[in-house]
Amino acid sequence: MKIISKTINIATKQRIQFIDITNELEKFVKESGVRNGICLVHVPHATAALILNENEIGLIEDFKRKISELFPMNAGYLHDRIDDNAYAHLASGIIGTSKIFPIVEGELVRGTWQNLLLTELDGPRSSRKVIFQVMGE
Ligand code: ZN
Repeated sequence: MKIISKTINIATKQRIQFIDITNELEKFVKESGVRNGICLVHVPHATAALILNENEIGLIEDFKRKISELFPMNAGYLHDRIDDNAYAHLASGIIGTSKIFPIVEGELVRGTWQNLLLTELDGPRSSRKVIFQVMGE
């Protein structure tokens, strides 16, 4: 069994931002040469997340609004006594920071409207890491 990892770095420009990394993921899987297995994607950050969904401009704005509605800034959170970004920690913890995909016959399996979106929740940041790891044969 092969295990291959890659880390990419992405700069973010907005406080809440969605960056489509589907092409990077699919390129990595192709280049790995793994035909059957799984691919893990993980963001090692407490104020970022991964969303797997449609990259449509209206829906992206809907996600942004819903995140702001569910996790408003400065809502009296205890963590804000330390660094003022509790809303981003809460959103990251609840949305989640990893995804797993099947790889079948050389193709990463995802739905037509499932794009992988790196979700910045406390930007801008000069570097957000995304780790891809494929396991299989
Ligand atoms: Zn914090």
